[in-house]
Amino acid sequence: MKPIPFEYFAPTTVEEALEHLSNLGYGGKVLAGGQSLIPAMNFRMARPGALVDLNGIPELAYIKPTADGGLAIGTMTRDSKVEHSPEVAKRFPLLPEVMPNIAHPQIRNRGTFGGSIAHADPAGQLPAISIVLNANLKVLKKGSERWVKAEEFFLGPFMTVLEPEEMLAEVVLPALPPRTGSSYQQVSRQKGGYSMAAVASVVTLDEAGKCTNARMVMISVGDVPILSAAALRILVGQKPTPEAIAEVAEIAASQEIDPGTDIHATAEYRRHLIRVLVRRSLTTAFERAAK
Ligand SMILES: Cc1cc2nc3c(=O)[nH]c(=O)nc-3n(C[C@H](O)[C@H](O)[C@H](O)COP(=O)(O)OP(=O)(O)OC[C@H]3O[C@@H](n4cnc5c(N)ncnc54)[C@H](O)[C@@H]3O)c2cc1C
Repeated sequence: MKPIPFEYFAPTTVEEALEHLSNLGYGGKVLAGGQSLIPAMNFRMARPGALVDLNGIPELAYIKPTADGGLAIGTMTRDSKVEHSPEVAKRFPLLPEVMPNIAHPQIRNRGTFGGSIAHADPAGQLPAISIVLNANLKVLKKGSERWVKAEEFFLGPFMTVLEPEEMLAEVVLPALPPRTGSSYQQVSRQKGGYSMAAVASVVTLDEAGKCTNARMVMISVGDVPILSAAALRILVGQKPTPEAIAEVAEIAASQEIDPGTDIHATAEYRRHLIRVLVRRSLTTAFERAAK
């Protein structure tokens, strides 16, 4: 299959890209790694009248430490760069744990960190990881800049708060406190395939071993990544006992998700997976936090 005819712009600066997006409005689309957009165009599921290709803008690809000990990641940073960065591994070990689960090395060499978040696939890992790591997202349009919390960015499947003339420019991950542990658990039909269900957790303990923070996000079980309220409510202020973790798993599986049935799994099977994966993810994250 071939896409419908479209115009193509190859800016070399952010300002130039924003100028094109402003002129094109609903007719334009950003091209990042192209790993989702190009197949969608070939199948004619996406029919943009014009592409604004960000690949010629080197200033959008970087991993930089922030003053508070976190990291700022430019939107065009390839997934493989994030996967293999020692800076990322030191500050956010969750990311190198997650990355090998995203498609295959060839796709991660081309797919971008920001493109995956902007794409907002409910089965995608990075939208959920941006929420669990409490990311701030820098959004630019011609003449203005705004910041959006990751947990407010996703509106539905493949839908975000981005307006047509806007572009995701940077993802800022705030530093994690000491005694923080994280864990990612997923079940998929084959390596490199999207998950049938997945859970990412980030938890923090105080010196007495009580939980001071518990963020847990569930993937592929709703229209957007789902941040668990039960994890915070039940675990914070407590020692993380197996009973408390099992209670979170039960509430998450029965009340917090809205899974669908498709050719890969039934809704009931996805609920079962969430029960198991929440327990595994939280237990591992707390073990790592205690080390
Ligand atoms: C075989 C295969 C398997 C895959 N498996 C997985 C998987 O298991 N998990 C997973 O998460 N993903 C998976 N993917 C998707 C892959 O990770 C994509 O690369 C990613 O979802 C999109 O990133 P991209 O940089 O290629 O964006 P593109 O394909 O270029 O763009 C995707 C969408 O986001 C928009 N966009 C991109 N960047 C920006 C920006 N900076 N500002 C505003 N809008 C923007 C585009 O306009 C487009 O609508 C798979 C892809 C393939 C082909």
